[in-house]
Amino acid sequence: MFDLMREMTLIESPTSDKASNDRLIALVRARFEALGATVDIDPQSDFGDHMVARWPGVGKPGLIIGHVDTVWPFGTLEDMPYREEDGNIYGPGVLDMKAGIAATIAALEMLRNTGDWPERALAVLVNSDEEVGSPSSRPLVEAEAVNAAYSIVMEPSMGFSLKTARKGLGEFRLHIEGRASHAGAFPEDGISAIEEMAHQILRIQALKDWDAGTTINVGLIDGGSARNTIPAEANAVIDVRVTSADEGERVTSALYSLYPVNTDTTLEMTGHLHRPPMEREGPVAELFARVQSLGAELGMELSESSTGGGSDANLTAALGIPTIDGMGAVGEHPHADGEYLVAAELPKRAELLAHCLRML
Ligand SMILES: [Zn+2]
Repeated sequence: MFDLMREMTLIESPTSDKASNDRLIALVRARFEALGATVDIDPQSDFGDHMVARWPGVGKPGLIIGHVDTVWPFGTLEDMPYREEDGNIYGPGVLDMKAGIAATIAALEMLRNTGDWPERALAVLVNSDEEVGSPSSRPLVEAEAVNAAYSIVMEPSMGFSLKTARKGLGEFRLHIEGRASHAGAFPEDGISAIEEMAHQILRIQALKDWDAGTTINVGLIDGGSARNTIPAEANAVIDVRVTSADEGERVTSALYSLYPVNTDTTLEMTGHLHRPPMEREGPVAELFARVQSLGAELGMELSESSTGGGSDANLTAALGIPTIDGMGAVGEHPHADGEYLVAAELPKRAELLAHCLRML
């Protein structure tokens, strides 16, 4: 398991690079085929390919989901080399989530080698674009999930906790057009798109609702062409996080209802909630209770937590499929300097997964 994790981490795989993600998909595909799976490849042109490994069995398949892409650009390994220190393993993407895939393969190998293979049909979906919101793999994730008995997502845990709620996530873009003019010679002919953007930013930020868990971040702005030219254009990129579908609708409709303060400008809003919220209710809560008791059989005390980050668990939970996330590695600092996992916890995670696959 650790050898495989190391091999995968040493293949740097930013989402934007098709070739490296394809290499990783080929690598894990071979491991699944060695375990007797039939593997379907979902070929992509803009991203690495995605894949689904399938094993026949009784009833609706149990679905395991992971991704091989990372947020780290090429060359990160030079500054953040793969290394083990004081029981922790460091490296770009090692926690999120090459360890999760290595643990999945280890769990399946354990089940095969002990003759304990689950009765239920199984499927493992591995995609290459999760870190940018699964734009190309979303249909595949949803198609697999809709037929699944349950979905287990191998993202890193929160501390030691599994994840039973995730905020929904949207990316919106506001484009404003005004009219350019020389700021000194003909200021009266100009219509400032940046001035209008300033008004709109305050309206957009005011849509936040801490109590409801709704956060809004105008995270990027640009506009204008020169200091002495009245800006004809301005753009903003907006991050939206919500805990409920209702809040998602409220914010989306408010963003699309924005109107100009200066009626000589035009506003164009694009974007949507691309990850629906994973709400801690019904099927999610029931699956957590079951996994918690299975963990207890192994002497593990499993707790649950929620996060503002999105994952493919949002997609499967939104379809009403019992979903548990954060079944992967235990560690800290995903997407950040010093990303690491706790080596001693990973075999326990693989054992937990194997036990769940056998029992669920
Ligand atoms: Zn991840």
